[in-house]
Amino acid sequence: MLAMQLPPGLLEKLRGGVTTVEDCNETLPVRAPFSGEVLARIPAGREEDVELAIDRARAAQRSWAALPAGDRGRIFLHFHDLLLERQNEGLDLIQMETGKARRHAFEEILDTAVVARHYAWRAERLLRPRRRRGALPFLTSTWEVRHPVGVVGFIVPWNYPLNLAITDAIPALLAGNTGVLRPDPQSSLTALWAVGLLRECGLPADVFGVVTGEGATLGQALAGRADYVMFTGSSRTGRLVGRQAAERLVGCSLELGGKNPLLVLADADVKAAVDGAVRGSFVGAGQVCVSIERIYVDRSVLPRFLPEFAARAKTLKLGAALDYSIEMGSLTSERQLRTVEEHVEDAVSKGATVIAGGRRRPELGPLFYEPTILTGVAPGMRAYAEETFGPVVSVYPFDTEEEAIRLANESRYGLSASVWTRDVRKGRRLAARIEAGSVNINEAYAATWGSTDAAIGGVKESGMRPRHGDEGLLKYTETQTIAAQRWLPVGAGYGVDAAKYARVMTLLLKTVRRTRLFG
Ligand code: NAD
Repeated sequence: MLAMQLPPGLLEKLRGGVTTVEDCNETLPVRAPFSGEVLARIPAGREEDVELAIDRARAAQRSWAALPAGDRGRIFLHFHDLLLERQNEGLDLIQMETGKARRHAFEEILDTAVVARHYAWRAERLLRPRRRRGALPFLTSTWEVRHPVGVVGFIVPWNYPLNLAITDAIPALLAGNTGVLRPDPQSSLTALWAVGLLRECGLPADVFGVVTGEGATLGQALAGRADYVMFTGSSRTGRLVGRQAAERLVGCSLELGGKNPLLVLADADVKAAVDGAVRGSFVGAGQVCVSIERIYVDRSVLPRFLPEFAARAKTLKLGAALDYSIEMGSLTSERQLRTVEEHVEDAVSKGATVIAGGRRRPELGPLFYEPTILTGVAPGMRAYAEETFGPVVSVYPFDTEEEAIRLANESRYGLSASVWTRDVRKGRRLAARIEAGSVNINEAYAATWGSTDAAIGGVKESGMRPRHGDEGLLKYTETQTIAAQRWLPVGAGYGVDAAKYARVMTLLLKTVRRTRLFG
């Protein structure tokens, strides 16, 4: 078993990045999934620490927002460069805290760098005042102005500890907000490392504070004080956070769970579809919000697809190694492993068949579970509709594309989906009918996620208010409309015959409608 040890001095340095009222004596253990050892102890922050971090962020916000957007952008471009340069430090930490394979950890580095570059280049243009059509042509000059909302609270889970801690914060901070981050206790070291890099690049400490510690107390404290809440996690907790934000009438963005389908149509390149299914189902040992848990295959290609998919799953290289030699890592927590086992046992006890996997692998590490493929999964089994969030995928045949769409939509979730076909036009038509925030054609999950310029989020119980794209930054702003009027007032002024004014305006509106003038 791989022994887990942080480089000397690193823990003390990272702990220095936490915001606390005074030295926090209470700590929480971080266990390394690869070995089960206690990797480190992190401060168990309290409500007053959240308060302090929010107060500091609020005090820092005005001067941060007063900086030209280009100056803020330069910090994130520098971060982009430093992140790529120092990636190995980050990759080690991500792997030690999550147990994922290095190839999957690298996706976090890649995406975080891309997001930093994208918004650093884009923010200035998005934040510029925009001329809008005025109430009266030529007489009203109207501008839409964007202001930061204030202090944004970020509550993030453990599965993408770098990516989720940082990429939502980047557009928020670029928009002139300050922020407070509450990373998951399982993965706070990675988050602290990344925030440390940002500070090295010139981000003032109070502009982005970090409070580590237990979720329910700190999460609620943050959601109870921030001016906007960005939450990533399960739909169950997302509902609580959303309710809290609604009560306070502050904005929130929720990125929640999924039970994502992959469709293999009759004309698909089957070999490529198998590749996609392997990547999509077992990335991060299936602990990825957009990973695939349901595969629908046209009955005519099922005899080619299923044996090949099973063979690939059985030969995936599992293990614990802080290098690129491994194809799938470990689960991250005992809780997650138990859910995986329960879903498989429940399905098998009710008649499902295990085509590949279905076992723990304790000789590799305490939390390893084989990539698992089930068939014969039916309503009433937990794996049918509940999110497993592990390396377990169910394969179902379909006879018509109508049936495939119906099955794909038969879920309370609507996060991500994938369609495999040689006919991309048909793929796009079908994709538009799938109830999911993003649909990949001939890719499992990364084409949409990697298209940073386009918004990505969840529908149904998978979330609200997407990340990425222009909306991923503008959601952290309040819109203000400023309009200047000249010569004539907009309404009937005093001393004007109101009836005559109404007749003239009616005529004007009818003319505009008929001629599409100003349309
Ligand atoms: P979770 O909802 O249990 O926890 C998420 C975070 O919220 C954790 O940091 C937790 O400590 C904190 N938290 C717990 N109780 C809280 C409360 N009452 N108020 C505020 N915060 C609280 O989710 P999890 O099991 O840690 O993460 C896995 C889930 O996250 C899966 O459902 C997965 O699909 C989802 N997820 C979604 C996305 C996305 O972008 N849509 C990305 C990653 C993970």
